[in-house]
Amino acid sequence: MDEKVDPILQEVIARNPGESEFHQAVREVLETLGPVLVKYPEFARHKIIERICEPERQIIFRVPWQDDKGQVQINRGFRVEFNSALGPYKGGLRFRASVYLGIIKFLGFEQIFKNALTGMPIGGGKGGSDFDPKGKSNDEIMRFCQSFMTELYRHLGEYTDVPAGDIGVGGREIGYLFGQYKRITNRYESGVLTGKGLEWGGSLVRTEATGYGLIFFVREMLKVRGDDLAGKTCVVSGSGNVAIYAIEKLQELGARVIACSDSDGVLLDEQGIDLEIVKQLKEKERRRIGEYTTLRKHAHYRAKGTIWDIPCQVALPCATQNELTGKDANTLLKNGCIAVAEGANMPTTPEGARTFLAAKIAYGPGKAANAGGVATSALEMQQNACRDAWTFDYTQQKLEAIMKEIHRLCHQTAEEFGMPGNYVIGANIAGFLKVAKAMVALGLV
Ligand code: GLU
Repeated sequence: MDEKVDPILQEVIARNPGESEFHQAVREVLETLGPVLVKYPEFARHKIIERICEPERQIIFRVPWQDDKGQVQINRGFRVEFNSALGPYKGGLRFRASVYLGIIKFLGFEQIFKNALTGMPIGGGKGGSDFDPKGKSNDEIMRFCQSFMTELYRHLGEYTDVPAGDIGVGGREIGYLFGQYKRITNRYESGVLTGKGLEWGGSLVRTEATGYGLIFFVREMLKVRGDDLAGKTCVVSGSGNVAIYAIEKLQELGARVIACSDSDGVLLDEQGIDLEIVKQLKEKERRRIGEYTTLRKHAHYRAKGTIWDIPCQVALPCATQNELTGKDANTLLKNGCIAVAEGANMPTTPEGARTFLAAKIAYGPGKAANAGGVATSALEMQQNACRDAWTFDYTQQKLEAIMKEIHRLCHQTAEEFGMPGNYVIGANIAGFLKVAKAMVALGLV
């Protein structure tokens, strides 16, 4: 760690006690910024790094709701509005039992740089709740979303803060949240949320965007190495929105996807994952991935355990933070893995990331590789702003162009800073530079 940057990190840790995921996300960015301060001494004078690490605003609120038995339930809601130098705060909402301020802050912090990399006019933010959607009825989900929005609406607006989905928040939840926002404000303000349904202001390709974008990024990384995805054996962790559409695009490009997972266990289908079954189970019936084996008897399911011991050439962590450890990274390398790209946010531990970088395989960090989701959210905002709706092909072409440009920018920035092929350095520095330059221009606000 650079001697100018280390005290800033120590200060962040001291000022935000107990928020280990946030510390990890900040450390991962700050340890790559030393050479930037040498090239741009004005950033130190303006205390840009210190300012970027302190959210502009943090909102924590009570979410009371009634369950189906009539019992009162209380959850905690969060929205961290991290940085608005490039545009309105933008980032998803995560509903998961493990959510606390440290997780929302790590996600919001990463979102600043990811959103900058997309080249779209969006700042960084994130929110959510420790509400656990597992096992909740549709009515309970609706009542929770309505109560959540009854507090959050006052902080939102298409030019202020624009949430979307993340783990536990998909089209259904965005619908209930949008309905309540519309009712309270008496405004049909389409651009206040993204990930909306196609009938009420949503964009084609938004559902597929994070997964598709991830594969476009992998394709670019392989292209640089004179390789492609055709015939490659792939393992994708998770089976939610990101994983499903990553698998879909991989299969379209002729890759062989043999495994996926959920938080209960790992599914291996040597004949290739049947995506229609996964979609039916996870998107429609909201069931567990283990039930796949009742329809495909030859497939193997094991409860718990890691997915990363399954030999593959391409590994795509698309589940959650810190799901791929240093030990997993070594196993993957030993088994011949040549490319890893992160569909989830911060899925690789610092030790895992170091292992991939030292081995010089193609390693795409989440900030760059999974930016297709939020980029397409910005395309949804564009369509809402001009009351338009684009075709699937046109929107997908835009997404593809954005992912190619993110790849080019990260690749070129890594080279400029003397670390060719290191997409971690490329993504952090390229994202940081855009935000930092805007912050200097906007003065001390
Ligand atoms: N939750 C997604 C992410 O991590 C998407 C956010 C958005 O579309 O605003 O980038």
